[in-house]
Amino acid sequence: MNKIIGLLIIGLTIISCKDIKKGAEDGYADATKKDTIPKVTLHVFDGGKIVVNNLELFSEDTTYHGQTKTFADAFYVIQHPKGNLIWDAGLPENLVGLPEPFTDPSGAFTVSRQDSVVNQLKTIGLTPKDFKYIALSHSHFDHVGHANHFKNSEWLVQENEYDFFTNDSAQVKHADIYSMIKDLNNIKKLQGEYDVFNDGTVIIKPMPGHTIGHQVLYLNIGLEKPLLLTGDLYHFEENRTHRRCPIFNYNIPQTKQSMETFENFAKEINADVIIQHSQKDFDKLKALLKAQKTNSK
Ligand SMILES: [Zn+2]
Repeated sequence: MNKIIGLLIIGLTIISCKDIKKGAEDGYADATKKDTIPKVTLHVFDGGKIVVNNLELFSEDTTYHGQTKTFADAFYVIQHPKGNLIWDAGLPENLVGLPEPFTDPSGAFTVSRQDSVVNQLKTIGLTPKDFKYIALSHSHFDHVGHANHFKNSEWLVQENEYDFFTNDSAQVKHADIYSMIKDLNNIKKLQGEYDVFNDGTVIIKPMPGHTIGHQVLYLNIGLEKPLLLTGDLYHFEENRTHRRCPIFNYNIPQTKQSMETFENFAKEINADVIIQHSQKDFDKLKALLKAQKTNSK
C-alpha cells in the first residue's frame, strides 16, 4: 500500500511538476450542560474525491473482491473563541486544475480535488494564518494535502506518529508524505488524549492501528448530539458494522481494539458518528450544520 501511495504521489509530482486533563470525564459532563458551552462553530469542506478501483484492499478477506467505491475526502474547521483548528487536510493540492482525475500507476485509486484550501477558507472569511492549531487524524496522502499552508499553526500530533513519519529514514521512505508536512515546525507532541481548548468542547482521542498514532476528534459544541469524526478508523459504513480493516493498516489487532474503545465511547455519550470518507456522512453533516445555522438565526 505504501508503495501504491508512493507511486501515486510520485505520479502526481510528475504531472504537476495538556496532556490528558485529569477529570476529562468531568469535562464531558460539564460540556453537556449547554449553557456552559462557549460558541463553537464547525464547518465541513470538500478536500477531494477518491474512486477506489480495488475495494478488496479495505478488508482482510475477499468480501469486496471486484467492487469499487467512491470516497469523500473531507476536512473540517472548528472556530472557537480561543482560536481556530483545522482537522485534516484533504488530497494533494496539485490535483486542483488537472483536466481529469489522476489514476496511480497501480490502478488502485483515481483521485481528484476541485479547489484549494485558501479559496475554500475565503468563503468563511479566513486564511491559513488565522489558525492557531492544525491536527491530522493521521499522516496518509489523502489527509495531509494542504497541511504546509499552516506553518504558523501548532501541529497537534501524537509523538509516535510524528516520529514515524519524520525520522531520517521516513523522510526518504515516505518522502511523498513528508513533503506535505515538512513545513509544520510548530509542533505539540501528544501522548494520548488532548483537550484542545481545555473546556471539554474539542478533544483529540488516540485510536491507533490504521497508523501508529491515528486519532479521532470528539466535538461537544452544542449540536443536538456530540459528534465523533472517525478519521480512518472506518472508511465506510459496512466496515463499521462488521469491523473490517484495510489490509494496509499499521496494526490490525490494535485497530480492532480502537474500534472497541471507540464504539463504547460513542455509546456512552450517544454520539453522532461521522465517517470521514463517507459521502453520505459528508452530506448528513452539511445538512445538520445548515439546520443548526437556520435555528440559531
Ligand atoms: Zn488513511
